[in-house]
Amino acid sequence: MEQTKITKPMLEIEVVTHRYGAVTALENVSLVAGRGEFLTILGESGSGKTTLLRIISGLEQPSEVVKLKIGGENVVGVPPAKRNCTTVFQNYALFPHMSVLENISYGLVVRGVPKEDAKRAARRALETVRLGGFDARSVSQLSGGQRQRVAIARAIVTQPAILLLDEPLGALDERLRLDMQTELVDLQRELDTTFIYITHSQEEALAMSDRIVLMRSGKIEQLGTPFDLFDRPSSVFSAKFMGFENLMSGKVVEQRGDLTMVELSGGTVIAGVPESHRAFNPGTKVEVALRAERVTPVKGARPAGTSLNVVEGRRIDQRYRGKYSDILVETTAGTLKIRSWDLASLPEEFDFVSWRAEDCIILPTVA
Ligand code: ADP
Ligand code: MG
Repeated sequence: MEQTKITKPMLEIEVVTHRYGAVTALENVSLVAGRGEFLTILGESGSGKTTLLRIISGLEQPSEVVKLKIGGENVVGVPPAKRNCTTVFQNYALFPHMSVLENISYGLVVRGVPKEDAKRAARRALETVRLGGFDARSVSQLSGGQRQRVAIARAIVTQPAILLLDEPLGALDERLRLDMQTELVDLQRELDTTFIYITHSQEEALAMSDRIVLMRSGKIEQLGTPFDLFDRPSSVFSAKFMGFENLMSGKVVEQRGDLTMVELSGGTVIAGVPESHRAFNPGTKVEVALRAERVTPVKGARPAGTSLNVVEGRRIDQRYRGKYSDILVETTAGTLKIRSWDLASLPEEFDFVSWRAEDCIILPTVA
């Protein structure tokens, strides 16, 4: 799968399990991150994201592990300071009594780097995070965004092979968070360092990552590119987490070329595509996932097309969401949600709704 594409692994994790007493925080997690990759660990609160990061950094010793390597070297049992990675935390964890420059150079000084060299490197790191000239400032005189930049400068100054970031933008307001997302991606490209980035926000994951690991209760639910997660969810859980608004229950009736025909519980038959590399036998119970923004209302003649699903539909409700509006439609395929960013161009009344078969992801029903 995706893992085989990694030719130069920077991080290799094989079958890690971690328990806190009776709680299993991670179960049989295996993962490879490439050199210079931006890998995001996505998942809801309590899914094991921080535990995974703490195991990589060495702050936590896994209950069971087959392999844990950084840059090709075994790090099982190696203390955090001897591992070639650094963590950036959400709460910055800066030293309040030190100046900005001292905060950043500290890590080098304790490693025995001569003071002047450490200062020079710290100034360069400050430039990199666009805080040139802030050397003498006290940490208490900085805004939240500036503190986070200092924390990042402090982490990159030691030139780690892997930078671990645990929801680093979580405490910032939305506008600043969006700016910092772009800055972090630019920084990652510039440094060409492997970033392992934790977030619970699917938007953030989609906007920043080369690949995304979606966690669920301590296990990897899906691993893939942002495109895979957004357009090719591999389970009902992934589809829901990634914001597929419409889920229709039915059973497979037949295969027609590339398309799989599904009879919905109301009797309507629609065409879809199975989630990757899967074929469903006729009679299999399935869920069909469809993004609200892929459904189009149509007024007048019934649209035609072999890979187009068309059902009769009428508007029953509409909700203003600011950037977009959600329209609820009563259809022969059940109640569907349509999402529109351009309400003005939608017909006031409509006769049908349509969507492409490729946008219908057929997923196994979970028992
Ligand atoms: P996330 O970062 O995704 O929110 P965590 O890795 O922090 O998740 O937690 C995973 C699970 O392990 C949760 O059920 C959490 O309550 C539990 N957990 C985390 N840290 C500890 C701890 N120090 N002691 C006991 N349970 C913990
Ligand atoms: Mg966490």
